[in-house]
Amino acid sequence: MIGKLLVANRGEIAVRIIRAAKDLGIATVAVHSAADADALHVQLADEAVAIGPPAPKKSYLSIPALLKAAADTGCDSVHPGYGFLAENAEFSDAVTAAGLVFVGPSGDAIRLMGDKVSAREAAARAGVPVVPGSKGRVEGIEAAREVLAETGFPVMIKAAAGGGGRGIRIANSQAEFDQAFPQAEAEALAAFGDGGLYMEKVIGRARHIEVQVLADGRDAIHCFERECSLQRRRQKVWEEAPSRALSPALREELCASAVALAKAVNYSGAGTVEYLYDDAADRFYFIEMNTRIQVEHPVTEAITGIDLVAEMLRIAGGEPLRLKQADVAVKGHAIEVRLNAEDPARDFAPFPGTVETLRIPGGPGVRFDSMLYPGYGVPPFYDSLLAKLIVHGETREAAIDRLVRALRETEIGGLKTTKPLFLALAADPAVRAGDVHTRWLEGWLTDNAAALGA
Ligand code: ADP
Ligand code: ADP
Ligand code: MG
Repeated sequence: MIGKLLVANRGEIAVRIIRAAKDLGIATVAVHSAADADALHVQLADEAVAIGPPAPKKSYLSIPALLKAAADTGCDSVHPGYGFLAENAEFSDAVTAAGLVFVGPSGDAIRLMGDKVSAREAAARAGVPVVPGSKGRVEGIEAAREVLAETGFPVMIKAAAGGGGRGIRIANSQAEFDQAFPQAEAEALAAFGDGGLYMEKVIGRARHIEVQVLADGRDAIHCFERECSLQRRRQKVWEEAPSRALSPALREELCASAVALAKAVNYSGAGTVEYLYDDAADRFYFIEMNTRIQVEHPVTEAITGIDLVAEMLRIAGGEPLRLKQADVAVKGHAIEVRLNAEDPARDFAPFPGTVETLRIPGGPGVRFDSMLYPGYGVPPFYDSLLAKLIVHGETREAAIDRLVRALRETEIGGLKTTKPLFLALAADPAVRAGDVHTRWLEGWLTDNAAALGA
């Protein structure tokens, strides 16, 4: 079993992990950059270690600094959270080589499933349909032309090491492609340290549907799906579970394919298999696997009653999966919205500042995962997520109504946030009907962004 955990992250996810560890009686050590000395995760952990200056490269992304913090405080394990080093195979290997438990998959599993190209190949081998596109990495523009003959236009150029909505370009014509391909290569190299690219046909009007899995290296189960079709710049802003687009038969097929893939690669820990679902053609396609806890995991927790982070800690501690597939059932409907420190009326410009007043929503079916407290200064160095508001209701309708109620209760004084976006979306007929796809929000914003100043 795990006795003392280093939480190698910051923000709301560090707070979330500390809470799960405490519930299991595990001692916790927070790490923080110079910009985060007063952060909530530092206050809530049993101990805290300063690991470097504000720049992530010198603190939250520094493997030597993190390993030293773990050694100095006598930790036996490390949880990477999401972002930062969560999908870094070298980090998983380094933690293990230092004699510590990595709360996540092995370096080899991350290399296989964290690289989007080898993950596509593994999915295809496991019989999971993938988006038509290149076989492996596309080595140069000549090889790309052959793939284009199959995909046609528009086509997506994607970075093998991309993530968080970054490293993806669309080309609508040969001329656009010839210009975009070398740019994408240079950008991927600069952003991810790996210029590897692959290509996919663009699936138009698709929904983003993903399946949560839990596995222990031998067995795997799923915890049903989440739909995350409301996206801006390919980043999720609103997530829900279950998806209203799936029939029971298709849900079973989709979830079974995720379990088959997890088993085929002897996956261990929590993971998410992401798909695009084309309603019109009634087909789904694998796009990638995230080998970590995801931002939107609480909607699954709401509908299944499972504490996914606690299960990750138990699995990493060597326990076999406690849950059988038959133990996992869905109750009601849950929605999460991401409250970011951004001004939706000004093209979502970042809005760091100080939280002057704070009113946290509550009551039945409401969860607020955040690192905010009155007086907290939001540093400008990290991503803009301030809080996740998660609501749960008997039906999707009831969940949306509850979302509106909870959003109206929420007050984050002193900062601009994405709250007005969610109030407007909750009132929109297409959102109410669940009639959306991954490009829908961008179109909606073109017409409605100016009205979000309130
Ligand atoms: P999720 O997949 O959990 O819904 P996101 O796609 O928003 O969440 O990613 C979660 C966080 O991790 C974001 O802060 C995002 O910027 C970051 N992230 C994800 N993948 C990468 C990557 N390959 N490189 C850098 N940051 C990443
Ligand atoms: P990331 O690693 O950044 O999360 P993904 O491959 O998961 O990248 O894709 C992010 C989003 O980009 C998807 O949710 C979807 O909206 C869009 N997308 C990705 N691939 C395709 C595709 N082949 N066709 C249409 N949209 C796509
Ligand atoms: Mg993704």
